Amino acid sequence: MTGRLGAPTMLERHDLVHPDGRTFHLYGRCGGSLDRQPGQRDDSALHSRLDLATDTWIAVSPARNTRPAGEQHTTECPLCPGGLELPFPYDAAVFDNRFPAFSPVAPATTGAGLMPSQGKCEVVVYTSNHEGSMATLTPLEVARVVALWRDRTAALWADGHAYVMAFENRGPEIGATLSHPHGQIYAVPFLPPFVLDKVAAAHRHREVDGTCVGCALVAQAEPQRTVVPDEHWAVAVPFAPRWPFEIHVRVRRHGCRRLADLTDDEALGLARIVREVVNRYDRLFDFELPYMMVVQEAPDGCDDWHLHVEFLPVHRSADRLKVRASVETALGVFINDTLPERNAERLARVVPPEVSWQEITVPAVRAADPKGEE
Ligand SMILES: [Zn+2]
Ligand SMILES: [Zn+2]
Repeated sequence: MTGRLGAPTMLERHDLVHPDGRTFHLYGRCGGSLDRQPGQRDDSALHSRLDLATDTWIAVSPARNTRPAGEQHTTECPLCPGGLELPFPYDAAVFDNRFPAFSPVAPATTGAGLMPSQGKCEVVVYTSNHEGSMATLTPLEVARVVALWRDRTAALWADGHAYVMAFENRGPEIGATLSHPHGQIYAVPFLPPFVLDKVAAAHRHREVDGTCVGCALVAQAEPQRTVVPDEHWAVAVPFAPRWPFEIHVRVRRHGCRRLADLTDDEALGLARIVREVVNRYDRLFDFELPYMMVVQEAPDGCDDWHLHVEFLPVHRSADRLKVRASVETALGVFINDTLPERNAERLARVVPPEVSWQEITVPAVRAADPKGEE
Protein backbone atom coordinates (compact mmCIF):
# COMPACT_ATOMS: atom_id res chain seq x y z
CA MET A 1 0.00 0.00 0.00
CA THR A 2 2.76 2.44 0.86
CA GLY A 3 5.17 1.90 -2.01
CA ARG A 4 7.85 3.03 0.41
CA LEU A 5 11.41 3.49 -0.77
CA GLY A 6 14.32 2.64 1.51
CA ALA A 7 15.15 5.81 3.44
CA PRO A 8 12.43 8.13 4.76
CA THR A 9 12.10 11.27 2.68
CA MET A 10 13.21 14.54 4.25
CA LEU A 11 11.57 17.93 4.10
CA GLU A 12 13.66 20.99 4.93
CA ARG A 13 12.19 23.73 7.10
CA HIS A 14 13.50 27.31 6.94
CA ASP A 15 12.61 29.43 9.99
CA LEU A 16 12.33 33.18 9.39
CA VAL A 17 11.23 36.15 11.50
CA HIS A 18 9.13 38.95 10.02
CA PRO A 19 10.09 42.57 10.93
CA ASP A 20 6.83 42.74 12.97
CA GLY A 21 8.00 39.78 15.10
CA ARG A 22 5.90 37.02 13.56
CA THR A 23 7.53 33.65 12.93
CA PHE A 24 7.46 32.02 9.48
CA HIS A 25 8.32 28.43 8.58
CA LEU A 26 8.96 27.71 4.91
CA TYR A 27 8.95 24.06 3.87
CA GLY A 28 10.85 22.73 0.85
CA ARG A 29 11.77 25.57 -1.45
CA CYS A 30 12.54 28.89 0.23
CA GLY A 31 13.41 31.71 -2.13
CA GLY A 32 14.21 34.79 -0.07
CA SER A 33 13.92 36.85 3.09
CA LEU A 34 11.25 38.85 4.89
CA ASP A 35 13.58 41.67 5.94
CA ARG A 36 11.83 44.43 3.99
CA GLN A 37 8.22 43.26 4.45
CA PRO A 38 5.81 45.87 5.82
CA GLY A 39 5.00 45.36 9.51
CA GLN A 40 1.50 46.09 10.75
CA ARG A 41 0.75 43.65 13.51
CA ASP A 42 -1.31 44.86 16.45
CA ASP A 43 -1.96 42.42 19.29
CA SER A 44 -2.37 45.15 21.95
CA ALA A 45 -6.12 44.63 22.54
CA LEU A 46 -6.11 40.81 22.80
CA HIS A 47 -7.43 39.28 26.01
CA SER A 48 -9.77 36.55 27.26
CA ARG A 49 -12.80 37.03 29.54
CA LEU A 50 -14.50 34.53 31.79
CA ASP A 51 -18.23 34.10 31.22
CA LEU A 52 -19.41 33.58 34.79
CA ALA A 53 -22.70 32.04 33.67
CA THR A 54 -21.04 29.08 31.93
CA ASP A 55 -17.55 29.19 33.49
CA THR A 56 -15.97 29.28 30.01
CA TRP A 57 -13.44 31.61 28.40
CA ILE A 58 -14.28 33.99 25.55
CA ALA A 59 -11.39 35.31 23.44
CA VAL A 60 -11.68 39.01 22.60
CA SER A 61 -9.79 40.10 19.49
CA PRO A 62 -11.12 43.40 18.11
CA ALA A 63 -8.45 43.74 15.36
CA ARG A 64 -9.79 40.63 13.59
CA ASN A 65 -12.83 42.60 12.48
CA THR A 66 -10.64 44.67 10.15
CA ARG A 67 -9.14 41.68 8.33
CA PRO A 68 -9.74 41.26 4.58
CA ALA A 69 -13.05 39.73 3.48
CA GLY A 70 -14.39 38.46 0.19
CA GLU A 71 -12.78 36.69 -2.74
CA GLN A 72 -9.28 37.83 -3.66
CA HIS A 73 -7.94 37.99 -7.20
CA THR A 74 -4.85 35.91 -7.83
CA THR A 75 -2.66 39.01 -8.09
CA GLU A 76 -3.87 40.26 -4.70
CA CYS A 77 -3.82 36.97 -2.81
CA PRO A 78 -1.59 37.45 0.25
CA LEU A 79 -0.71 33.71 0.25
CA CYS A 80 0.49 33.42 -3.36
CA PRO A 81 4.27 33.60 -4.02
CA GLY A 82 4.97 37.33 -4.41
CA GLY A 83 1.93 38.25 -2.30
CA LEU A 84 1.85 40.29 0.91
CA GLU A 85 2.72 37.45 3.29
CA LEU A 86 5.00 35.26 1.18
CA PRO A 87 6.97 37.44 -1.27
CA PHE A 88 9.09 34.56 -2.64
CA PRO A 89 8.81 30.98 -3.99
CA TYR A 90 7.91 28.22 -1.51
CA ASP A 91 6.43 24.71 -1.55
CA ALA A 92 4.38 25.00 1.66
CA ALA A 93 4.43 27.44 4.56
CA VAL A 94 3.24 28.05 8.10
CA PHE A 95 3.25 31.54 9.59
CA ASP A 96 1.74 33.57 12.41
CA ASN A 97 -1.64 35.05 11.50
CA ARG A 98 -1.54 38.83 11.09
CA PHE A 99 -4.97 38.95 12.81
CA PRO A 100 -4.67 36.46 15.67
CA ALA A 101 -7.12 35.62 18.43
CA PHE A 102 -4.21 34.33 20.56
CA SER A 103 -0.63 35.58 20.46
CA PRO A 104 2.70 35.01 22.22
CA VAL A 105 2.87 38.80 22.71
CA ALA A 106 -0.69 39.26 24.01
CA PRO A 107 -0.66 41.87 26.80
CA ALA A 108 -0.31 40.53 30.35
CA THR A 109 -3.92 41.33 31.27
CA THR A 110 -4.80 40.70 34.91
CA GLY A 111 -7.90 41.24 37.00
CA ALA A 112 -11.15 39.51 37.87
CA GLY A 113 -12.40 37.35 35.00
CA LEU A 114 -9.49 38.24 32.73
CA MET A 115 -6.71 36.12 31.28
CA PRO A 116 -3.99 37.01 28.76
CA SER A 117 -4.81 35.51 25.33
CA GLN A 118 -1.39 33.82 25.29
CA GLY A 119 -1.20 31.40 22.43
CA LYS A 120 -0.54 31.11 18.75
CA CYS A 121 -2.66 31.36 15.59
CA GLU A 122 -0.85 30.01 12.56
CA VAL A 123 -1.82 29.93 8.90
CA VAL A 124 -0.92 26.68 7.10
CA VAL A 125 -0.46 27.22 3.35
CA TYR A 126 -0.80 23.83 1.64
CA THR A 127 0.72 24.74 -1.73
CA SER A 128 1.98 27.74 -3.72
CA ASN A 129 -0.79 27.12 -6.32
CA HIS A 130 -3.69 29.50 -5.83
CA GLU A 131 -6.28 27.21 -7.44
CA GLY A 132 -7.66 23.99 -6.03
CA SER A 133 -8.30 22.50 -2.61
CA MET A 134 -7.47 19.53 -0.41
CA ALA A 135 -9.32 17.43 -3.02
CA THR A 136 -7.05 18.44 -5.89
CA LEU A 137 -3.66 18.67 -4.16
CA THR A 138 -1.20 16.08 -5.47
CA PRO A 139 -0.54 13.11 -3.15
CA LEU A 140 2.93 14.59 -2.53
CA GLU A 141 1.36 17.90 -1.43
CA VAL A 142 -1.15 16.21 0.89
CA ALA A 143 1.64 14.11 2.44
CA ARG A 144 3.51 17.38 3.01
CA VAL A 145 0.47 18.88 4.78
CA VAL A 146 0.46 15.95 7.22
CA ALA A 147 4.21 16.48 7.75
CA LEU A 148 3.56 20.18 8.49
CA TRP A 149 0.77 19.36 10.94
CA ARG A 150 3.03 16.90 12.71
CA ASP A 151 5.97 19.29 12.82
CA ARG A 152 4.07 22.37 14.01
CA THR A 153 1.70 20.74 16.48
CA ALA A 154 4.61 18.90 18.16
CA ALA A 155 6.43 22.23 18.56
CA LEU A 156 3.31 23.95 19.96
CA TRP A 157 2.56 21.15 22.46
CA ALA A 158 6.22 21.31 23.52
CA ASP A 159 5.80 25.06 24.14
CA GLY A 160 3.29 24.20 26.88
CA HIS A 161 0.01 25.40 25.36
CA ALA A 162 -3.06 23.82 26.98
CA TYR A 163 -4.59 22.73 23.69
CA VAL A 164 -3.40 22.66 20.07
CA MET A 165 -5.64 22.11 17.06
CA ALA A 166 -4.93 22.06 13.33
CA PHE A 167 -8.03 22.78 11.29
CA GLU A 168 -9.46 24.06 8.03
CA ASN A 169 -12.49 26.26 7.41
CA ARG A 170 -13.49 25.68 3.81
CA GLY A 171 -15.90 27.91 1.90
CA PRO A 172 -17.53 31.29 2.51
CA GLU A 173 -20.38 29.57 4.42
CA ILE A 174 -17.79 28.75 7.11
CA GLY A 175 -16.26 32.22 7.04
CA ALA A 176 -13.16 31.42 4.99
CA THR A 177 -12.02 34.76 3.56
CA LEU A 178 -9.27 33.46 1.24
CA SER A 179 -9.68 30.75 -1.40
CA HIS A 180 -5.97 29.84 -1.65
CA PRO A 181 -5.71 26.25 -0.28
CA HIS A 182 -4.87 26.71 3.38
CA GLY A 183 -5.74 25.75 6.93
CA GLN A 184 -4.82 26.99 10.38
CA ILE A 185 -3.44 25.89 13.74
CA TYR A 186 -4.56 27.38 17.06
CA ALA A 187 -2.70 26.92 20.33
CA VAL A 188 -4.75 28.16 23.29
CA PRO A 189 -4.01 28.78 27.00
CA PHE A 190 -6.99 26.86 28.45
CA LEU A 191 -8.73 23.53 27.80
CA PRO A 192 -11.70 24.29 25.50
CA PRO A 193 -15.15 23.24 26.83
CA PHE A 194 -15.76 20.56 24.18
CA VAL A 195 -12.34 19.03 24.88
CA LEU A 196 -13.19 18.99 28.61
CA ASP A 197 -16.46 17.22 27.70
CA LYS A 198 -14.59 14.57 25.72
CA VAL A 199 -12.07 14.03 28.53
CA ALA A 200 -14.90 13.68 31.08
CA ALA A 201 -16.70 11.21 28.79
CA ALA A 202 -13.49 9.17 28.42
CA HIS A 203 -13.05 9.02 32.20
CA ARG A 204 -16.71 8.07 32.74
CA HIS A 205 -16.47 5.34 30.09
CA ARG A 206 -13.34 3.94 31.76
CA GLU A 207 -15.05 3.97 35.18
CA VAL A 208 -18.34 2.45 34.09
CA ASP A 209 -17.20 0.13 31.30
CA GLY A 210 -13.58 -0.45 32.23
CA THR A 211 -12.52 0.14 28.63
CA CYS A 212 -11.23 2.90 26.35
CA VAL A 213 -13.85 5.17 24.79
CA GLY A 214 -11.61 5.65 21.73
CA CYS A 215 -11.53 1.88 21.13
CA ALA A 216 -15.32 1.82 21.61
CA LEU A 217 -15.76 4.59 19.02
CA VAL A 218 -13.59 2.68 16.54
CA ALA A 219 -15.70 -0.46 17.08
CA GLN A 220 -18.91 1.56 16.74
CA ALA A 221 -17.92 2.72 13.23
CA GLU A 222 -18.35 -0.80 11.79
CA PRO A 223 -19.89 -1.76 9.55
CA GLN A 224 -22.91 0.18 8.42
CA ARG A 225 -21.59 3.70 8.90
CA THR A 226 -18.17 3.08 7.35
CA VAL A 227 -17.40 5.35 4.41
CA VAL A 228 -13.85 4.24 3.53
CA PRO A 229 -12.56 0.82 4.69
CA ASP A 230 -8.98 1.11 5.95
CA GLU A 231 -6.66 -1.03 8.05
CA HIS A 232 -5.30 1.84 10.17
CA TRP A 233 -8.23 4.23 10.38
CA ALA A 234 -11.95 3.97 11.09
CA VAL A 235 -13.53 6.34 8.55
CA ALA A 236 -17.22 6.65 9.27
CA VAL A 237 -20.26 8.78 9.86
CA PRO A 238 -20.46 8.66 13.68
CA PHE A 239 -23.28 6.85 15.49
CA ALA A 240 -24.63 10.16 16.80
CA PRO A 241 -23.49 12.93 14.42
CA ARG A 242 -24.35 16.58 15.01
CA TRP A 243 -24.12 17.44 11.32
CA PRO A 244 -25.85 15.30 8.66
CA PHE A 245 -22.74 14.48 6.61
CA GLU A 246 -20.23 14.50 9.45
CA ILE A 247 -17.33 12.03 9.03
CA HIS A 248 -14.84 11.05 11.72
CA VAL A 249 -11.45 9.61 10.79
CA ARG A 250 -10.22 7.87 13.95
CA VAL A 251 -6.96 5.95 14.30
CA ARG A 252 -7.55 2.30 15.25
CA ARG A 253 -4.41 1.81 17.34
CA HIS A 254 -4.85 2.37 21.08
CA GLY A 255 -2.09 4.63 22.36
CA CYS A 256 -1.89 6.76 19.21
CA ARG A 257 -3.03 10.00 20.83
CA ARG A 258 -1.31 12.68 18.79
CA LEU A 259 0.07 13.25 15.29
CA ALA A 260 3.57 12.65 16.70
CA ASP A 261 2.53 9.07 17.62
CA LEU A 262 1.69 8.07 14.02
CA THR A 263 3.72 5.36 12.30
CA ASP A 264 4.80 6.02 8.70
CA ASP A 265 1.96 3.83 7.40
CA GLU A 266 -0.64 5.54 9.61
CA ALA A 267 0.57 9.00 8.55
CA LEU A 268 0.42 8.10 4.87
CA GLY A 269 -3.01 6.53 5.39
CA LEU A 270 -4.23 9.77 6.97
CA ALA A 271 -3.02 11.81 3.98
CA ARG A 272 -4.75 9.45 1.56
CA ILE A 273 -8.01 9.39 3.53
CA VAL A 274 -8.24 13.16 4.09
CA ARG A 275 -7.88 13.74 0.35
CA GLU A 276 -10.37 10.99 -0.44
CA VAL A 277 -13.01 12.22 2.03
CA VAL A 278 -12.93 15.70 0.48
CA ASN A 279 -13.21 14.15 -3.00
CA ARG A 280 -16.28 12.21 -1.86
CA TYR A 281 -17.81 15.38 -0.42
CA ASP A 282 -17.21 17.26 -3.68
CA ARG A 283 -19.01 14.57 -5.68
CA LEU A 284 -21.92 14.20 -3.24
CA PHE A 285 -23.77 17.25 -4.58
CA ASP A 286 -21.40 18.13 -7.44
CA PHE A 287 -19.95 21.24 -5.86
CA GLU A 288 -17.12 21.95 -3.44
CA LEU A 289 -18.81 21.15 -0.16
CA PRO A 290 -17.95 23.68 2.56
CA TYR A 291 -16.76 22.08 5.78
CA MET A 292 -14.89 22.48 9.01
CA MET A 293 -12.07 19.94 9.35
CA VAL A 294 -10.51 19.63 12.80
CA VAL A 295 -7.55 17.51 13.92
CA GLN A 296 -8.26 16.43 17.49
CA GLU A 297 -5.15 15.45 19.43
CA ALA A 298 -5.24 14.29 23.04
CA PRO A 299 -4.81 16.90 25.78
CA ASP A 300 -2.26 16.07 28.48
CA GLY A 301 -3.41 13.36 30.88
CA CYS A 302 -6.04 11.67 28.69
CA ASP A 303 -4.85 8.19 27.68
CA ASP A 304 -8.17 6.92 26.33
CA TRP A 305 -8.06 9.25 23.33
CA HIS A 306 -7.48 8.10 19.77
CA LEU A 307 -6.18 10.79 17.41
CA HIS A 308 -9.05 11.74 15.12
CA VAL A 309 -9.95 14.15 12.36
CA GLU A 310 -13.55 15.36 12.26
CA PHE A 311 -15.14 16.67 9.07
CA LEU A 312 -18.12 18.89 9.88
CA PRO A 313 -19.97 20.03 6.74
CA VAL A 314 -22.90 22.40 7.26
CA HIS A 315 -25.12 21.20 4.37
CA ARG A 316 -28.05 18.88 4.96
CA SER A 317 -28.91 18.66 1.26
CA ALA A 318 -27.60 20.19 -1.98
CA ASP A 319 -29.45 23.45 -1.40
CA ARG A 320 -30.12 23.59 2.32
CA LEU A 321 -27.83 24.40 5.20
CA LYS A 322 -28.16 23.00 8.67
CA VAL A 323 -28.35 26.14 10.79
CA ARG A 324 -27.08 26.01 14.31
CA ALA A 325 -30.27 27.59 15.66
CA SER A 326 -31.69 28.24 19.16
CA VAL A 327 -31.79 24.70 20.50
CA GLU A 328 -28.32 23.83 19.19
CA THR A 329 -26.74 27.12 20.26
CA ALA A 330 -28.48 27.76 23.58
CA LEU A 331 -28.82 24.19 24.83
CA GLY A 332 -26.09 22.34 22.96
CA VAL A 333 -28.75 19.86 21.84
CA PHE A 334 -28.21 19.03 18.19
CA ILE A 335 -31.16 17.83 16.14
CA ASN A 336 -30.14 15.78 13.12
CA ASP A 337 -33.02 15.56 10.67
CA THR A 338 -31.36 12.90 8.53
CA LEU A 339 -30.51 9.23 9.15
CA PRO A 340 -26.75 8.76 9.69
CA GLU A 341 -26.70 5.24 8.18
CA ARG A 342 -28.32 6.49 4.97
CA ASN A 343 -25.84 9.37 4.67
CA ALA A 344 -22.92 6.99 5.27
CA GLU A 345 -24.26 4.77 2.49
CA ARG A 346 -24.46 7.72 0.10
CA LEU A 347 -20.92 8.82 0.92
CA ALA A 348 -19.60 5.26 0.59
CA ARG A 349 -21.21 4.91 -2.86
CA VAL A 350 -19.39 7.96 -4.29
CA VAL A 351 -16.56 6.92 -6.61
CA PRO A 352 -13.55 9.18 -5.99
CA PRO A 353 -11.13 9.69 -8.88
CA GLU A 354 -8.13 7.35 -9.08
CA VAL A 355 -4.80 8.79 -8.02
CA SER A 356 -1.48 7.01 -7.50
CA TRP A 357 0.15 6.97 -4.07
CA GLN A 358 3.06 4.91 -5.33
CA GLU A 359 6.37 6.03 -3.82
CA ILE A 360 4.72 8.72 -1.67
CA THR A 361 5.73 8.99 1.99
CA VAL A 362 4.98 11.55 4.68
CA PRO A 363 8.41 13.19 4.95
CA ALA A 364 10.27 13.79 8.17
CA VAL A 365 10.94 17.51 8.74
CA ARG A 366 14.36 18.85 9.62
CA ALA A 367 15.49 22.42 10.15
CA ALA A 368 17.58 23.74 7.27
CA ASP A 369 21.14 24.85 7.93
CA PRO A 370 20.77 28.62 8.51
CA LYS A 371 24.10 29.26 6.77
CA GLY A 372 22.58 27.91 3.58
CA GLU A 373 20.05 30.73 3.49
CA GLU A 374 20.31 34.22 2.10
ZN1 LIG B 1 -3.15 32.61 -3.74
ZN1 LIG C 1 -8.25 2.89 22.90
